Amino acid sequence: MIFVFLGPPGCGKGTQASRLSARFKLVHFDMGKVIRNEIEEGTSIGKTAKTFTNRGELVPLTLIKILLKKELEQSGERDMIMDGFPRSSEQAELLDGMLSDTEDELKNVYYFAIDERLLVNRIVNRRYCPLCKRVYNLLYVQPLEKGVCDDDGTSLQLRPDDNREVVMNRFRVYERKTEPILERYRKAGLIVEIDAGRNIDEIEETLVGAMGLN
Ligand code: AMP
Repeated sequence: MIFVFLGPPGCGKGTQASRLSARFKLVHFDMGKVIRNEIEEGTSIGKTAKTFTNRGELVPLTLIKILLKKELEQSGERDMIMDGFPRSSEQAELLDGMLSDTEDELKNVYYFAIDERLLVNRIVNRRYCPLCKRVYNLLYVQPLEKGVCDDDGTSLQLRPDDNREVVMNRFRVYERKTEPILERYRKAGLIVEIDAGRNIDEIEETLVGAMGLN
C-alpha cells in the first residue's frame, strides 16, 4: 500500500512522514533525501542532480526513474509513504505505470493545505544535521543546545537550497509542475486534504485517523 504526501515546500510533510514511518514501521521514501545522498556520495547521478537542486529545479525524469527503481527494490513489500514524489504529471504517470506493474495500491494522496505565506520563513529557519540528517527548525523544533544536533553533537547546517532566493524558485516550480497533479488526483477521488497549519502533534493524529493506521 502506498500513501502519497503532497504539498508545497516547507508544508511539514517530511516531518510527518518521518514520525509516522517510525511509529508504524512504514517505509519513508523521501525523494529529496535520496537525491541529497547521491550528491553527498558524489555519484554521477548526484553530480548532475546538484545542478538542478541548487537552483530549486526538478531533477530530470530519467534520473528520477533510476532512483525510484533502486529505492523500490530495496524497500520490498512494506507499506510506504512517498514524500516528494510524484512532483509532476510525468512522474504521476510513472507512478501509475509502476502500480499497474506491481500489484501495489495507491491508498490516497494526502494534500497538506497551508497558507503559503507562512512557509518561506519556516524554510529559511530550517537546519539539519549533516551526519544523521535529523531536521530542526529554529522557530518550532529547536535543538537542546543551540546549533548542535541532540543525537550526535554535530554542528547543524542550512541546506544549500533553503536560502531565500532558491526557495522562491522552488515555490514557482511547485505551482507550475506539482500543483497540476492535484487536479488529476482530485478527479480520481484520491485527495484527502489535511489542514497543515496546526501544530505537529495535531496533524500527526489527524493523519493516523485519515490513513487508517489506528
Ligand atoms: P525536498 O527535499 O523535497 O525539498 O527536495 C529538494 C530538491 O530535490 C527539490 O527542490 C528538487 O530539486 C529535488 N527533488 C526532490 N524530489 C524530486 C522529484 N520527485 N523530482 C525531481 N526533483 C526532485
